[in-house]
This record gives sequence, structure tokens and C-alpha cells, in this order.
Amino acid sequence: MHSFQLDNDLELFRQDVRTLAEKEFTAKAAHWDEHEIYPEENKNLLAELGYLGMLIPEQYGGLGLPIVQGAVFLEEIARTCFNTALVAQLYLNGPAKALVELGTEEQKQRLLPALIKGEHLIAISISEPGAGSAVTDLTTNVKKVGNDYILNGTKCFTTAGVEATHALVFARFGDSKGSRGIGAVLVDKGMEGFSVGKPERKMGGRAVKEAELHFDQVRIPKANIVVEGTPESSASFKRLMSSFGPERVGNAAMCVGISQGAYETALAYSETREQFGRPIAEFQGIQWKIADMATQLHAARLMTYRAATHLKNGFPDPLECAMAKLYANEMAQRVTNEALQIHGHYGYCRDYPLERMVRDARGFSLGGGTPEILRNTIAAQCYGRSFNQRRA
Ligand SMILES: Cc1cc2nc3c(=O)[nH]c(=O)nc-3n(C[C@H](O)[C@H](O)[C@H](O)COP(=O)(O)OP(=O)(O)OC[C@H]3O[C@@H](n4cnc5c(N)ncnc54)[C@H](O)[C@@H]3O)c2cc1C
Repeated sequence: MHSFQLDNDLELFRQDVRTLAEKEFTAKAAHWDEHEIYPEENKNLLAELGYLGMLIPEQYGGLGLPIVQGAVFLEEIARTCFNTALVAQLYLNGPAKALVELGTEEQKQRLLPALIKGEHLIAISISEPGAGSAVTDLTTNVKKVGNDYILNGTKCFTTAGVEATHALVFARFGDSKGSRGIGAVLVDKGMEGFSVGKPERKMGGRAVKEAELHFDQVRIPKANIVVEGTPESSASFKRLMSSFGPERVGNAAMCVGISQGAYETALAYSETREQFGRPIAEFQGIQWKIADMATQLHAARLMTYRAATHLKNGFPDPLECAMAKLYANEMAQRVTNEALQIHGHYGYCRDYPLERMVRDARGFSLGGGTPEILRNTIAAQCYGRSFNQRRA
């Protein structure tokens, strides 16, 4: 049985990150959201302090720290500035981690040192207009021509698609269908035939936008093939999907962080706001909301740490990741919403952070696997078999 107690060093690390985030990121958290500006200066500071490379192995210039430490880091950053946490997640658990686990030695040597310095950013591009939850319906295609590969297709909802210097693009090798033949290639900004569409205007996480990526006869050198699709089997696709575990842990950790911020704000407000001649904290109706929020936060945090530490072959256990993300996603919606409720009309006002927290928390239930898809994954484990989602 795993211990859920974080050791002292990790708690000290949390304090350091909390101090940093409160000092550097709190003041402008609303600014990035309001003006929809990518928090470049925060990313630069995190790079300078070495945090962007905290989960990257030491041989590429990183710190090689464990996934759970990344979870604590993201939690603390999301507690104050969600948009900065979103950027950090791209460096810690998302495409960067996928490259660490799946990339060739040459690719890692070429890209990771600059990534850690914040000079490179890799976006991950899987979703397509016709293939969201049904990832295996993707149609973006790679064809081998001589020593090169030609990429064609359109992707959507790629986080930081505009800012990214590279995109890790999931694509179908050859003409196979379903999960067979799906691999991944690196596309570099500036490659002929590669263009980025208009960023999406969205509800939350407004400083870090999603965009469409278009590939029109893009010539990909062999050196940029990360995972070659295996048309005769699903092996390449399974390898790619295994890299989703850390992403889901990071997503759950950010849910915990943003909810912790909302909870603390509501707790403090309830002690100062008076109605009927007494602080609203003295009403049992408010106390029970606080109790429920604290309990759900605690459960989500434990599930996240457990998923982050229970590794199988170097990756977090997929079932635990699915459960932690599912619970944390729905918890974050409930907790931020209750925190807004405790603030009454002030919570609804844009001069207070609550409405932003509610908006920011909402997106977690879409990116990285929806609750419906996560429930399908968990149910398949419960029953010991997958259920075909396709029309017969
Ligand atoms: C903030 C954010 C960031 C994102 N970043 C990226 C990124 O960087 N790269 C990237 O590739 N994608 C990204 N995405 C896209 C994300 O992965 C998709 O939104 C997600 O996979 C769902 O796809 P969809 O939006 O097309 O919804 P659909 O798949 O069309 O689903 C619509 C609804 O039907 C439900 N549904 C679908 N199938 C089933 C089923 N079998 N059983 C029950 N319910 C089902 C879904 O859960 C959902 O509620 C991001 C999304 C968001 C919101």
C-alpha cells in the first residue's frame, strides 16, 4: 500500500512554490484573463528558475524530479494563476513529457535543452473537426515518399498552437482504419505548407488559446518521426496513449489548485461578510458548504497524489489517472461554483476572482478526456472488457 503522506522535502517545496506564486503571479492573474494575453513573462521566470525542466531527465538539462512533485508545483501555481499553470503543464506533463517518453535520442538532444530554457514550446495536436472523443477516427495522414514523409490534414483545439515552435501531431500512417497505423510526427514552425488558424475565443483559460493547425503537403524529414504508425497493429497508438497519464495527473492537480484558491477565498469572505447582524460563517448552511468543499478537495488531492506515485513501467496507472481526473474535474466545478455562491453577487462580479475561477475550472472537463470518456475507461476496467461505442 502506498503512503499518501508527502514527505517533508515535498512540503517545503510546496511552500517555496506558494511563496513564489503569491509574490510573482497573483497580481496579474486577472490581467492575463481580461486581456487574453499569453503570460510570456511568467513562463520566462519559470524557465529562469529551472521549473520548466523539473520533470525532464538530467541528461537533457532538466532536474529529473518525480511526477508527484510536478503535481504539487502545478497545484500551487493554479491556486494563484491558472493561465500560468496551463503554460507550465505544457512543459511538465503534456507534449514535453510525451517527447521524453517516446522521442528518439536525437530528438530529445535537439529539442529538450531549448525547451527547458523556454525557447521552444511543443504543442500536442490530436483533435480534429471530425475526431474529438473518437480519437481513432482521425484522418490527418502521413505518406512515405522517398526518405521523407508528406503530411496532410487539419487539426483543431491545439493549446498554444499560435505560440508553439513545434507541434507533436498525431497522424495516420498509410490507409489503415481505427487505431491501427496511428503515429506521431513533429512539425516545426516555418515548415512549408504548415499554417496556424485563428485562435478560438473561449470561456476560461483565456490567455492560453486553442487554434487550428493546417498541413498542406508538409514535408516531414525522417528525423521528425516520433512514433511511426504500425498499419498492421494498434501498437503505435497504444504507445502514444500511454503518455496521457502524466497529462491527466497534471490536469487533476490544477483542478485541486484552483479549487484550493476558491475555497480559501470563500472561507475568508464568510468570516467578514455580515448578514442578519452576524458573519455568514456562523450560519450552518454556509458551514456545511465549506465542509463539503474541504472534504471533496481532500479526496481529489489524495487521488491525484496516489495516481502520481503509483507508477507502472514508468507511467502512472491509467485507471488511477482516469479516476483522479474524473473526480477532480467535477470537484473543481462544484467547489469553484460554491465559492462563488458564498460571495453572493460579489462572486458574480468581475472585480472578484470567483467568476474567473468558475470559468477556468470548466474547461478541465473537456481537455484530455471528457468525464464521459473517462467513465467509459473506468467501466471497462470494472467489467474487465471494453464496450464497443460504435453503431453496429
Ligand atoms: C481547454 C481545452 C484544451 C484542449 N487542448 C487540446 C490540445 O492541446 N490538443 C488537442 O488535440 N485537443 C485539445 N482539446 C480538445 C479535447 O481533447 C476535445 O475537446 C475532447 O477530446 C472532446 O472532443 P470534442 O470537443 O470534439 O467533443 P465530442 O467528442 O464531439 O463529444 C461531445 C460530447 O459527447 C460526449 N461523448 C462522445 N463520445 C461519447 C461516448 N462514447 N460515450 C459517452 N459520451 C460521449 C463527450 O464526452 C462530449 O460531452 C482541448 C479542449 C479544451 C476544452
